[in-house]
Amino acid sequence: MQQIAIGIDLGGTQVRAALVDERGSLVARREELTDANGGPDRILSQIRTLSDELLATVKPSDVVGIGVSAPGPIDTVSGIATSIPTLSGFVDFPLRAELQKRFPFPVSLEHDGIAAAIGEWTFGAGKGVDNLIYITVSTGIGGGVIADGRVLRGRKGMAAHIGHMSVAPDGELCPCGNRGCFEAYGSGTAFMRRARARAAECSDTTLGRPGEDIHSRDVFAAARAGDALANRLIDEEAEILGRGFTSLIHIFSPDMLVMGGGLSNEFERLQPGIQGYITQWAMPGFKDVKVLRAALGQNSGLIGAAALAFLAESIRLEGPSLVANR
Ligand SMILES: [Zn+2]
Repeated sequence: MQQIAIGIDLGGTQVRAALVDERGSLVARREELTDANGGPDRILSQIRTLSDELLATVKPSDVVGIGVSAPGPIDTVSGIATSIPTLSGFVDFPLRAELQKRFPFPVSLEHDGIAAAIGEWTFGAGKGVDNLIYITVSTGIGGGVIADGRVLRGRKGMAAHIGHMSVAPDGELCPCGNRGCFEAYGSGTAFMRRARARAAECSDTTLGRPGEDIHSRDVFAAARAGDALANRLIDEEAEILGRGFTSLIHIFSPDMLVMGGGLSNEFERLQPGIQGYITQWAMPGFKDVKVLRAALGQNSGLIGAAALAFLAESIRLEGPSLVANR
């Protein structure tokens, strides 16, 4: 009998749902734009509708459970969404309990960064290792940590908000309200902001012709066409990421770093700069830690959510002592 899990990746832009088999393969998927202003009832009904469409294609007895990856902060110990900035109405909302009411299967809930780390660890670039850090570099910067062969969740399950390491009190303003955070310099949003500002004061660039906005992909395209400013901006971005990643290496001593998120679409261009920074500035003994691209691409969180359901099932079957920490 083939077992299937449902993975849900609830994001600020899209709600994605998939049937995933035990090998981590996507059997079927559905997605739609998140009604971010619709409130919790509306979002829950989006999740329910997408799941029902998928469930119509399989035997209910083959489904082990449903895993949900959601943006935080969420207290995943109590299952309560404290406040989700990208989704209106999710303030002190009992998300896991409300999800569980809508499904006859066990529901697991995890932060998006941790869910993606579990996905890459179980089915992706980090299969078989005991220590990895997943980092998503996109609108913001987030992540998840696997340490000593287990998922690091921390108090309230909120560990690894790695975008908010702050060491510069007068630095750039971060969406979290603090200044000088890693995210405020290294995210895709920060990269675009820097590109717009620098293009405006540079006369010798193809970036930002009058009336044209600049997105990350434009900078990479211009760089490939030989634009010097675009190449400088990318090298600086790689250095910023390298600096943040080097701190993470020093703190957690991972076997590897796995980079996902929108900017990982340009991993080949960014990787030499990131790896070069690590080689130069990590302390001896840490210099050989490699940065890899997320093997599951933009599906790390979606497949990771399904992996959660499989892990919860194995804990039920085998007992917590064997697999509790996974
Ligand atoms: Zn911050």
